[in-house]
Amino acid sequence: MRQRKTFIPTTREVPASAEAISHKLLVKAGMVKQVSAGVYTYLPLANRVIEKIKKIIREEHEAIDAAELTLPILQAQEYWEQSGRWNKMGDELMRIKDRKGGAYALQPTAEELICQTVANMVTSYKQLPLSLYQIQTKFRDEVRPRLGLLRCKEFIMKDAYSFHDTSESLREAYKTYYNAYSRIFDRMDLKYRAVQADSGNIGGSYTHEFQALAEVGEDTIVYTDNSDYAANIETAKVPEENYSLVEFEKKEKELVETPNTGTIDAVAEFFGLEVNRCLKALALKADGELYLVLMRGNDQLNDIKFMKATGTSEIEMASEEEIDYMGGVAGYMGPLEIKNCKVVADTAVKYMYNYTAGANKLGYHYANINTGDYEVDAYYDLRMIEEGDLAEDLSGPVKFAKGIEVGQVFELGRAYSESMDIKFLDSNGKAQYFYMGCYGIGVSRLLSAIIEQHNDDKGIIWPKSVAPYQVHLLCVDVKKADQVALAEKLYEELKASKIEVLFDDRPERAGVKFNDADLIGIPLQVVVGKKTSEDIVEIKVRENNEKVEYASSQVIDLVKEFYK
Ligand code: ATP
Ligand code: MG
Repeated sequence: MRQRKTFIPTTREVPASAEAISHKLLVKAGMVKQVSAGVYTYLPLANRVIEKIKKIIREEHEAIDAAELTLPILQAQEYWEQSGRWNKMGDELMRIKDRKGGAYALQPTAEELICQTVANMVTSYKQLPLSLYQIQTKFRDEVRPRLGLLRCKEFIMKDAYSFHDTSESLREAYKTYYNAYSRIFDRMDLKYRAVQADSGNIGGSYTHEFQALAEVGEDTIVYTDNSDYAANIETAKVPEENYSLVEFEKKEKELVETPNTGTIDAVAEFFGLEVNRCLKALALKADGELYLVLMRGNDQLNDIKFMKATGTSEIEMASEEEIDYMGGVAGYMGPLEIKNCKVVADTAVKYMYNYTAGANKLGYHYANINTGDYEVDAYYDLRMIEEGDLAEDLSGPVKFAKGIEVGQVFELGRAYSESMDIKFLDSNGKAQYFYMGCYGIGVSRLLSAIIEQHNDDKGIIWPKSVAPYQVHLLCVDVKKADQVALAEKLYEELKASKIEVLFDDRPERAGVKFNDADLIGIPLQVVVGKKTSEDIVEIKVRENNEKVEYASSQVIDLVKEFYK
């Protein structure tokens, strides 16, 4: 492709809102153009990278016998009502109406429609297992679209769904997809970790996220250097082995006047204790029921672990009236003399001794509280894990890293087949609900994730497998006839050798061309310039910016060797 004929509007103008390096580079390199918040046009270069990504995904899905189909974006309300997600997804679900008033969801994912697809078509265990996938535009009304292609309202996702007669067959497919995903991300030269994760509103129980490591990532990954343990911080368990009982002399419980100690830090200061020796008590409402949640002063409640432990799905802070009803006082909450609520405590609380607790009385705390001074309905692992805590697999202390979720694999079990009422006949002729799995990859998000890991101060450095072109051929001065002649000759030869080549034939200054080439980041540059009369060209490897001169006749072989 001639650069004069395609559309690569490189620019120095970067929107002030662009925080992520990948966002800046996508705009600077003329790859995307924003249309509105979270909505982008993929310009020709980006489009080519997306096609490369899709190709890798398709090859790896064909290899595991997943068949591609295309589900509609426009999905009638009735299917979303059936699964219960028409309401559950809230404002994130984009909805539109047709002229007759019929309501539709713009697909954010497609569990409902894939169930509708196989309903009454896949009827026997003999047709199982079955894996179907699509690469399609998705819509989500994200609260805050940001970071370029990382969080959009409209984006491209690969979503696969598998159907099984047994949970064992599902687990096998899960492993197969897990391995296919590893190959897909390896082929894209991504540094990533597969981490245990939360299943969110999609249901199901067993799930891993594939997290590309990048500072800009919105997810925190918890891992250790001693094993392959890795989890999203949202689910990372704090094993009880983190705590130990210490020998101590039990002191007498005492009610103490503590004026102006409405914060945990003020309490710690008042008593001259470490914050973790002061009990924090949070008044919450979960699924309509009131809870008093007890933690060490420094610890943070992990909402997801709380909801899992208590089997609830929505939590909020208790209101003033509700705190009143519990017999508490905001800022002075404690487990003694509390009422009309469940009392749950983080495991760490079991190991506290002679600690302080709010007295449910304005300006008062108890000192020297110990186990047995009040009742606890249940102890759970409820707190956010911290760096240095012992990992769940006990292999050593955990570290944190930031990640971009580029893919996720789920075991859905039978949640959707039951709600969507789709069944098959087993070998005994008995109707059974399918076991299902679903597997997503953020195709457009990958563009950004790859750039986050592959760039330098000059621009993007595409991995070979997803580069928009294999070679960037530059004719330095199009006013020089000999340079044009040699460049044109090489252009024809490269094309004839089926090498994807972008030919910078623009009447631009050399500096502009070199800067643009580095910015766009095609892995190999072939520069036809000053030494044309000696039949010499310069080849630059973008990854290390090393330039070497070669006879023009060597170019094709060198390029082939590079891409072998
Ligand atoms: P996130 O936690 O980042 O919001 P998710 O867990 O809701 O993502 P999934 O439902 O698992 O997303 O979707 C599959 C994949 O689609 C994700 O792994 C991610 O790579 C991509 N994706 C999800 N939401 C967006 C978005 N708003 N913009 C771009 N890609 C997205
Ligand atoms: Mg996800």
